[in-house]
Amino acid sequence: MTASRHAAKSAFVEALRLREHFDRPLKTNVNDEIRVVIYGCRGSIPVNGTDFDQFGGSTTCILITSDDAVNIGIIDAGTGIRNLGRKIMKDETLREKPIFIAFTHFHWDHIQGLPFFEPAYVKGKKISLLALGRERPIDDLERVFSVPMQREYFPVQLSDMGANFEFVLPDENIRLFPTTVVTAHKHQHPGSAYSYRFVRGEKSIVFCTDIEHGANLDPAIVDFCRGADLLLHDAQYTPKELANHRGWGHSSYEQAIECARLAGVKKLVLTHHDPNHNDAFLAKVEERCQELLPNCVLARENMTVVV
Ligand SMILES: [Zn+2]
Ligand SMILES: [Zn+2]
Repeated sequence: MTASRHAAKSAFVEALRLREHFDRPLKTNVNDEIRVVIYGCRGSIPVNGTDFDQFGGSTTCILITSDDAVNIGIIDAGTGIRNLGRKIMKDETLREKPIFIAFTHFHWDHIQGLPFFEPAYVKGKKISLLALGRERPIDDLERVFSVPMQREYFPVQLSDMGANFEFVLPDENIRLFPTTVVTAHKHQHPGSAYSYRFVRGEKSIVFCTDIEHGANLDPAIVDFCRGADLLLHDAQYTPKELANHRGWGHSSYEQAIECARLAGVKKLVLTHHDPNHNDAFLAKVEERCQELLPNCVLARENMTVVV
């Protein structure tokens, strides 16, 4: 299927289209838990070496799942998606499930893992690539992925990988699983990016990365995060670094904490770690953050957070 706004009329989107307000609790037959598994939390470029073992070097990729998950729900295809793909291929129960990858935006560090995502090489495998939210500055989602995989840049082209890709640009809220509703909200970032909110029963999670609030916190984002059980928020910089990186599209850990506090968030996970910040540096940042907000941790690769 080609990418376009009318692709939103696909059976997939029609089936997932949500007419109720996203905050309205849905009835669930199983427990309300939502689990987030972090496969990549490094910002900008992958890093490796013994200095990065503790927090990990793979770029942004998270798995969202629950007991009744009939699909595999992934946000962003940074280099962390490679390990997730290997895990899916080894697990019989996961291997058969349709895969949905939603993108916050399309900067390199959020898409570069896709050519190394093993399930995409399975012939006929159904993989939906989604960009939720209105006012997306793109109208051809397929090109976003096919151009970086042109022969000049990569040996295998997107159309030759094997998977049956579907490219969807839904304007409205969707259901990721039968009981999990996803909403997107545009925020400030070069080229624009979107925060995602997942609501399942009474539980909610917000993923808000690659955001530059500016001198003051974006009140619309604080509203979007309001009352979340878990917020994963960009914290690439220290406050001092932020002052020297205006326009790079990121937040300081102090801003992330302030956002969580104003929004009344229950747990905060800081992500998109700067590639120059090694384990020792990040451990100190985490200590400082926990002085400011006790329910706060820095994201680590392979960490699971349950709410
Ligand atoms: Zn990024
Ligand atoms: Zn970005």
